[in-house]
Amino acid sequence: MSNFYPFEEIEKKWQKAWEEQRIFETTEDPGRKKFYVLEMFPYPSGDPHMGHVKNYVIGDVIARYFIRKGYNVLHPMGFDAFGLPAENAAIQHGIHPAVWTYEKIDRMREVLKQLGITYDWRREVITCDPGYYKFTQWFFLQFYKNGLAYKKEGPVNWCPSCATVLANEQVVDGACERCGTPVEKKLLNQWYFRITKYAEALLEEMKLLGNWPERVLTMQRNWIGKSEGANIDFFQPDLGEKITVFTTRPDTIFGVTFFVLAPEHPLVERLVRGTPKEEEVRKFKERISKKSEIERTSDLSDKEGLALEKDVVHPITGQRIPIWVADYVLLEYGSGAVMGVPAHDERDFAFAKKYGLPIIPVIQPPNGDWDGECYSGDGIMINSGAFSGLPSEEGKKKIIAFLKEQGLGDAAVSYRLRDWLISRQRYWGAPIPIIYCEQCGEVPVPEKDLPVLLPENVDFRPTGPSPLALCESFVNTTCPQCGGPARRETDTMDTFVCSSWYYLRYCSPWEKDRPFNPEHVRYWMPVDQYIGGVEHAILHLLYSRFFVKVLNDLGLVPFREPFTNLFAQGMVTKDGAKMSKSKGNTVSPREIIQKYGTDTVRLFILFAGPPELDMEWSDQGVEGAFRFLNRVWNIAREIMDMQSDQQVPIDENWMKNLERKVHQTIFRVDRDTRERFHFNTAISAIMELVNELSESLRFLSEKGAHPEEKNLMTWALKQLVSVLNPFAPHLSEEIWSLLGEKSFLSLAPWPEYDAEKMLTETVTIVVQINGKVRSKIEASRDASKEAVLEQALRDDKVQNWLDQKKIQKVIYVPNKLINLVVR
Ligand SMILES: [Zn+2]
Ligand SMILES: [Zn+2]
Repeated sequence: MSNFYPFEEIEKKWQKAWEEQRIFETTEDPGRKKFYVLEMFPYPSGDPHMGHVKNYVIGDVIARYFIRKGYNVLHPMGFDAFGLPAENAAIQHGIHPAVWTYEKIDRMREVLKQLGITYDWRREVITCDPGYYKFTQWFFLQFYKNGLAYKKEGPVNWCPSCATVLANEQVVDGACERCGTPVEKKLLNQWYFRITKYAEALLEEMKLLGNWPERVLTMQRNWIGKSEGANIDFFQPDLGEKITVFTTRPDTIFGVTFFVLAPEHPLVERLVRGTPKEEEVRKFKERISKKSEIERTSDLSDKEGLALEKDVVHPITGQRIPIWVADYVLLEYGSGAVMGVPAHDERDFAFAKKYGLPIIPVIQPPNGDWDGECYSGDGIMINSGAFSGLPSEEGKKKIIAFLKEQGLGDAAVSYRLRDWLISRQRYWGAPIPIIYCEQCGEVPVPEKDLPVLLPENVDFRPTGPSPLALCESFVNTTCPQCGGPARRETDTMDTFVCSSWYYLRYCSPWEKDRPFNPEHVRYWMPVDQYIGGVEHAILHLLYSRFFVKVLNDLGLVPFREPFTNLFAQGMVTKDGAKMSKSKGNTVSPREIIQKYGTDTVRLFILFAGPPELDMEWSDQGVEGAFRFLNRVWNIAREIMDMQSDQQVPIDENWMKNLERKVHQTIFRVDRDTRERFHFNTAISAIMELVNELSESLRFLSEKGAHPEEKNLMTWALKQLVSVLNPFAPHLSEEIWSLLGEKSFLSLAPWPEYDAEKMLTETVTIVVQINGKVRSKIEASRDASKEAVLEQALRDDKVQNWLDQKKIQKVIYVPNKLINLVVR
């Protein structure tokens, strides 16, 4: 390895120096502008993978850049340590989740430290630490006291494989987000956070956000699913009650030919009780309950229904409309009741076709008549009594006004967003701090009794009920209100609760009696630049936004949004697929670091392309990055060893050129790093400067170097390592110190470029052919005869005049004229 630069020695040396001198430890300093840069913290499920490394290295370049720009930078790291991955792995390996988790954290931290990242490790946060989850529980209590945490019975998503319930956000295409098992519906009594109360704020306050990827905002918007329309009451004579439906299309109300209730709707049982339909409906409900949500609601799936032989009364026409139950209507969405308008709704249309229900067109499409197929767009109202002839938009308003006047409905807004189900029937999570007393009912654990500790000796294998329910010493307690015997809540919290506030904890992780010091949070928050995967768009990111809005309303924080700017990085792929153990296409960061060093890994990842795009792992690419760093090392050595001689004439042109190139490089690296984080093009600019230095070395070794020229080379090298520093911090720090600098490059001011010196000076050169002016070209001042000739020959007009002729002679007057003598 003697041909290679001693990366191992260099990297260890500087990591040790940075740590010993504590240069990345930060404290609040009101006199300086702050910058909070944060990468989404990992599950400690083992060694970090390349996706993690990419995430953290992007964050580190940003942190290093802002440190050197003079900002007071907070850049912490921690571990999202509760949750199923740890628990499942622990079950598999027969060790306690805590032991397993802390072992993995140690392993992960070791690799993170090898990456040379600017973390302030004193601020490390581990969510399964009682000193942390004490406050996760404290936040639960604040939510509870303010009516934002509540328990209710309802249909929930149940993953039979994970043996726990899931939030709606954790169900992807009808399957468990974690293990892919189709999700079942169960009726359970569970804890929820009232996120629906914030549906409008979560939409509206997107305008407070800085730079967020549009696709993330779109995903959140779609998930919240706001729609405007009307609530309309349909009277049910047998029960003597009205049933309200929400519709976005009140203009189609004259097209209602049937009325659908979700099979789980509580009215269904009351409507059929004691009728011949009762047994049939019971069997129907049982069959539907086995279907997943996606099966029930997909446009492609076959719709199933059953007529109840009961009616509702149409609110305007007074006609009798038959009531059905159907699988495609869900209790959790809308009110669990739908007015069937088959002519203008795809699913109603499919349902009406299957069961032979009437289809009445009430909207005429703008270009022509209704053709017997479903038309769901806007148009002109027809077959609609006094409302016929109105365009849809106007018709909606008129219908709503009419219904309101009659006391039969009103304008309404509906959201797709449901409340956040936070109960989990698993062991490895923060216990929900609630006690049940026979006398007092549901009693919150007093804040002074926090944390409710997870018991250690528990059979944590999942069985259905929470493992904590089997632990008598945990369950049995006394009521904090009456002192009588009581039982603890045995569900634990969704780990997304833990990760909804961790960024606040970093601001003052030493606080024992409160989750954070409000002064410190006021100084550091909000996070200026957050970096993570787009897969968290509607889980972690939506939940964190919700959390901060609640805390703001409770007067705990002075801001509405946690993350000002969000950068979503692309994946690392290999052989065209996302790296995963099951595909066997992973690359171990630990091994690559051992073989090539951290700076190479960093440089390769950053050079592979714009960081928001997926990048393909390539062994050649890694070797290319390694060769480049070796080249920098060798060039640096050569420049430092350069001889100079007072007698050698100075080449002013060369000096100007090199100086210009250096300023251009600083400009490009600065721009590409600050805007859009296009580190790949920033690194390209650095590579060009390395080429320039390499050529300069050759040039000077032939010509001989004047001391002024050697000084310029040394200055250029210093600027080179200065801008290379955020990308390859160890090697650049080493060369910096070899150049005689006594303080850390990692803290040195970012170099300034001189816009004047950066400009390339150009001159207009007249091109003559056989003495006649044929064209003009722009060339760099003092360009060589060869360069100007080459440029002239590329000129279209010159090309035309030359045709097939041969150049006999070239006459060049520098910076003025070039004459081609041809025949
Ligand atoms: Zn699962
Ligand atoms: Zn009590």
